[in-house]
Amino acid sequence: MPARRILESPEHAELLELVRTVMSKQLAPQVAQYEADERFPREAFRLLGELGVLGVAYSEDLGGLGLPSEVYLQVLEEIAAVWASVAVGVSVHALSCFALATRGTKAQQQRWLPKMLSGTMLGAYSLSEPHAGSDPAAMATTARRDGDDYVLNGTKAWVTHGGYADFYTVMARTSGQPGDREGISCFLIPAGTPGLIADEPERKMGLTASPTASIRFENLRIPADHRIGDEGEGLKIALAALDAGRLGIAACATGLSQGALDVAIAYAQNRETFERPIIQHQGIGFMLADMQAAIVSSRATLLSAARLKDLGLPYASEASVAKLIATDGAMRVTTDAVQVLGGAGYTRDFPVERFMREAKIMQIFEGTNQIQRVVISRHLERPGAGAIVSKQLALA
Ligand SMILES: Cc1cc2nc3c(=O)[nH]c(=O)nc-3n(C[C@H](O)[C@H](O)[C@H](O)COP(=O)(O)OP(=O)(O)OC[C@H]3O[C@@H](n4cnc5c(N)ncnc54)[C@H](O)[C@@H]3O)c2cc1C
Repeated sequence: MPARRILESPEHAELLELVRTVMSKQLAPQVAQYEADERFPREAFRLLGELGVLGVAYSEDLGGLGLPSEVYLQVLEEIAAVWASVAVGVSVHALSCFALATRGTKAQQQRWLPKMLSGTMLGAYSLSEPHAGSDPAAMATTARRDGDDYVLNGTKAWVTHGGYADFYTVMARTSGQPGDREGISCFLIPAGTPGLIADEPERKMGLTASPTASIRFENLRIPADHRIGDEGEGLKIALAALDAGRLGIAACATGLSQGALDVAIAYAQNRETFERPIIQHQGIGFMLADMQAAIVSSRATLLSAARLKDLGLPYASEASVAKLIATDGAMRVTTDAVQVLGGAGYTRDFPVERFMREAKIMQIFEGTNQIQRVVISRHLERPGAGAIVSKQLALA
């Protein structure tokens, strides 16, 4: 479906075509089994890493492909249309590299980033805790300075790739109390560091091939050169990473919706009732039209926010809008895809029931959609805020 893509150059189109081919030919046949077995497809990340997909939007001097976010997000969409667990994993990996890429020293970047962006080292991003999800400043995990080291204690919750990652980007308190927005710092912790314990993965409704686990730190000792950025800068870094991450989740949701619509269209063109294909019944045709409208709106919103990012303009509120529109849209589109397939949609013979289960989490992680509204409404409190986006785009 190349027509649905908005691309700047033939090279970008070639990358998308390559990813589309790899997803449909090599990975699509594995999806159902891995999801059913709740097995983590580590090989898929190696394969995508070899294609450069794990560092698309990171600059070439850091080891990435140096392409615009707009291209990266369309790549993510292609992956999500086939395998949401992998697409979310790629997005979370990019999130886990953000701190190092934006706030790491040259020495830190040279030490770790090339392996991360090539997929040799897969990352996890650890902000949430059992009592600090929507309100990350409530975090209680501590990192106390001890000579040339930090010693970490506490529990991180809901870590995507927890127990499977090669490194963890972790926010922990170097000072202050739970509830303080100050005093949080960012650390890079390699897997296998003594004192890092991964619990059993959560038993989830969807994204079953994407492991999510609690990570505990029990007197984990890490050299001070594993701190990324200054002491106290951690929450700022974490939230900036989430702005970019929300675009990633919006792209995953848009791809998931597209995957569901594609299945629904194919089914509706072939299934006949009352002597005609069901797509010709207005009740179904209009449902498909609404699904198409939701996807086109999600994609436009997402790419408009990505363009602001690529231009170096503020885009936090627009990223929240994109996440909200795309994930609420994905919930509706995937639910309607099940409806289009009738009884067949409710079985595991078709992927739409899985898509519907996968859409639900996208309204929850990287800031619930209630929190996206908090972010957007706070931006609207600023004088003249309503006109900012259109002005930025007009001037760009
Ligand atoms: C599968 C999965 C993967 C995840 N991966 C990661 C990961 O890799 N790294 C990571 O750090 N975290 C991860 N998370 C955590 C996720 O980001 C949190 O679950 C999410 O931010 C919500 O936090 P919570 O679950 O504690 O809900 P709570 O914060 O307890 O919220 C409960 C409800 O209250 C609402 N609410 C809370 N505050 C407000 C408010 N001010 N106004 C209106 N409504 C409000 C919420 O919207 C929600 O509906 C993951 C979660 C899941 C389920």
